[in-house]
Amino acid sequence: MNDTFLLDEKMISLVNGCEKEVQSTFKRQEEICTYNSLKVLSAFHKNKINEAHFNATTGYGYNDLGRDAIEQVYADIFKSEAALVRSQFISGSHALTVALFALLRPGDFLLSITGTPYDTLHEVIGIKENSSSLKSFGVLYDEIDLKENDFDYQKIEEYLKNHSVKVIEIQRSKGYSTRKSISIEKVEKVVNFIKKINQEIIIMVDNCYCEFVSKKEPIEVGCDLAVGSLIKNLGGGIAPNGAYIVGRKDLIHLCAERLTLPGEGAEVGPSLGINKSILQGLFLAPSVVLSSLKTAILTSKVLGELGYEVDPKYDEERVDIVQNIIFHDKDKLIKYTQGIQSSSPIDSMALPLPWDMPGYSDQVIMASGSFTQGSSIELSCDGPIREPFIAYQQGSLTYEYGKIALIHATSFLGEKHEN
Ligand SMILES: *Cc1c(COP(=O)(O)O)cnc(C)c1O
Repeated sequence: MNDTFLLDEKMISLVNGCEKEVQSTFKRQEEICTYNSLKVLSAFHKNKINEAHFNATTGYGYNDLGRDAIEQVYADIFKSEAALVRSQFISGSHALTVALFALLRPGDFLLSITGTPYDTLHEVIGIKENSSSLKSFGVLYDEIDLKENDFDYQKIEEYLKNHSVKVIEIQRSKGYSTRKSISIEKVEKVVNFIKKINQEIIIMVDNCYCEFVSKKEPIEVGCDLAVGSLIKNLGGGIAPNGAYIVGRKDLIHLCAERLTLPGEGAEVGPSLGINKSILQGLFLAPSVVLSSLKTAILTSKVLGELGYEVDPKYDEERVDIVQNIIFHDKDKLIKYTQGIQSSSPIDSMALPLPWDMPGYSDQVIMASGSFTQGSSIELSCDGPIREPFIAYQQGSLTYEYGKIALIHATSFLGEKHEN
């Protein structure tokens, strides 16, 4: 069709064959997508979303009707008391940071019960030395690893009986680890368990990559706060930046006062003209998440058929949009990632190479040919250069582009000495 595309005939027929075999898995996600679409539309109706909400504020951002309506829509979708949805959050990690600094005071205790948190939080917490970390303010921290891909109930119970913990963090998606991501049912079970031991503990969830993958979200199952990025699932590929925090009203208030300033909180923060994009992205988000999931499912099936180890398996229940391919081979990880980059709409001519990244301890290779910088609801693939050489692939704004990229990247993988 075009010289820039490597569409091996064998791969085309393999992918088409696999596509037929994954239809019932697609169906399961399609049903969840319809359910979540209804959730979104109901929240739009309930809050009477209209053209006036697209208007921008500048400067201080007082009386931003659209911003306030967006936050009410988010609160309704998450069944939470309140929400903070702002472009002043520069990333998901920033929103997590704001939440942690909002909730914790010197001498307070933070406990992670899903092992070591996401890489970018290491300097925030003080796992890695930083003179602006929570640790530098005298906030204590500890972590309990997962046990056989579930919470270590016995250790959690012992710990809570012997320590005065203020905040518990649960990270659902696996990040750059090899564990399984945590389903909403597992979150519900552990939350009930914790609240029976101590009603006062604040449970905060890193919900990145999990939104709209299942029918329920963390606040519905008893969590106090959930946090995520708008250049992942909920932005639908349209939101230009930002992040959200949803949950208990008193805690959202603390987060708002930390994000802006004590005394002004959520009353300030200009939307600068992005309200329409945030609403439109949210409107599309269930379908875009579905496209990502279908791309992940097909990828899992095809790479599995080609003999590679994959996680999750194509027909396994999905908790997030991330698909792992465990290459056990550095060159194959690099080649596949380059294949994804070269089938992207943007920067297709760039050749990604392993590189040192701020906040990450190993070299990382990243393919991200996205309209929005760093957006990973758009098809992207990355991985740390360490054993067992795992590609973390996620996203695709449409299934068809995902499928084309998969054919191209697997064709590329088969090529011995090409770029
Ligand atoms: C993406 C992600 C974050 C936040 O990342 P940002 O790039 O800062 O938005 C945090 N936790 C997990 C598990 C993630 O996947």
